[in-house]
Amino acid sequence: MDLVLHNGTILTMTEKSANAVAVCNGRIRKFERVPAQEEIDLEGKTLIPGFIDCHTHFVSMGMRLSNVDLSDTRNLQEAVSRLEKRASETERDRWVLGFSWDESMWPERRWLSPEDLAGIENPVCAMRIDGHMAVLNPAGKKALHREEGYLFEEDLFYVSEIKADQDLEQAFEAALSLAHREGVTSIHDNPMDIKTFLLYQKMKSRDLRIYINLPASVLDAMNQLNLRTGFGDEWLRIGGIKIFTDGSIGAKTAALSFPYRNEETKGLLVYSDQEMTSILEKAHPNQTAVHAIGDRAIEQVITCSVPGKESRNRIEHAELVRDHHIPTIKELGLLLSMQPNFFQWSHPGGLYDDRFGTGLDNRMRTLTEAGIPIVFGSDCMPFSPLYGIEQATKAPFEEQRLTAMEALAMYTREAAYASFEEDIKGTIEKGKVADFVVLSDDPREVDISSIKVEMTIVGGKVVYRQ
Ligand SMILES: [Zn+2]
Repeated sequence: MDLVLHNGTILTMTEKSANAVAVCNGRIRKFERVPAQEEIDLEGKTLIPGFIDCHTHFVSMGMRLSNVDLSDTRNLQEAVSRLEKRASETERDRWVLGFSWDESMWPERRWLSPEDLAGIENPVCAMRIDGHMAVLNPAGKKALHREEGYLFEEDLFYVSEIKADQDLEQAFEAALSLAHREGVTSIHDNPMDIKTFLLYQKMKSRDLRIYINLPASVLDAMNQLNLRTGFGDEWLRIGGIKIFTDGSIGAKTAALSFPYRNEETKGLLVYSDQEMTSILEKAHPNQTAVHAIGDRAIEQVITCSVPGKESRNRIEHAELVRDHHIPTIKELGLLLSMQPNFFQWSHPGGLYDDRFGTGLDNRMRTLTEAGIPIVFGSDCMPFSPLYGIEQATKAPFEEQRLTAMEALAMYTREAAYASFEEDIKGTIEKGKVADFVVLSDDPREVDISSIKVEMTIVGGKVVYRQ
């Protein structure tokens, strides 16, 4: 054997229990403390399967890590100062990129404006946390030959152009190291372009398993080549077809059946029902991963879906599911790929309250009890399964809370099902890949906020040790 782990609590995420786990050639082989090249004494800590984050924007996150991260700014001025500081360290004509500002966390409660950034001579582009909106400063507008200081939705491809001259490999490395610190051993990623696939190809087998949802724009090429969901191996695999139906609640572009608070707009649908039907038909029998946040968007997905449970079609986010959607979601066999992290905005007085005039929960408990499969992802807001699990157990509306074990399953066992990989990962069972996380404590026993990732193991190799 190559590795044996013992003397801890082992949460196999199955009915069976184990006292020790032995690994050979990257796979789980035995549940005994047998002689091995490397022996890890868990010292009473808790071993779980590696986290599978079902919704990431991995390279963008890496970009954020290697550029100006605004996610933890406490007010608007702090965001401006960080961008100014980076500009002062950057050559005059080079871009300064900011990521993840969130005005709902600032006392000002307003978007960053081009005028706020007018004092910076470098071109600046600062993306809002939801990735559906960005602001440019005057120099940035000039550099892109644009009149308006805000970029929305499809205009955001300008940002990927700006990013093109940044170092992608460096961004990947930054994101990978965070993944290992957070216990993430697999991701389901959603890049905007095929270039990212080539990057992953180059960085393959770097101790992270990647399931890559490809944008609908490459559907024709995929069909011509007969490329299908599942193509690849346990390290890099083609996933579903990512299709957008609407935007985000923060940017007021999620498609609702009612107007946003103090606004006329009900958000927007990217496609007509007819267009959506034709895209979904074209994508079939590949898996589809359809971004739908507002109830009107979810309605469109279920109206236009092609029946076929074997495709394991997914709705990404699925935030405002209504009761009358539930029977159809079940009938179509749709999986809901949800983000417990978003509870950070749904409490009374939070962003959703601002947008809707009422606090509104992702109804995870209701949906689970209805028997709808839910898988969890972070959407990199923040990139931390433990944070999400904590949020799920502390949802603002008590009746929607999940237990720690339910939330943990959605980040491991259930998550493996979403990529058709339940035979090789998601639980600690013989024959499965040896991807593990060592947690400081048992999530069944202590408050999740006090638990730390102590060690991450991918394919039997320790990739992170606290
Ligand atoms: Zn996303």
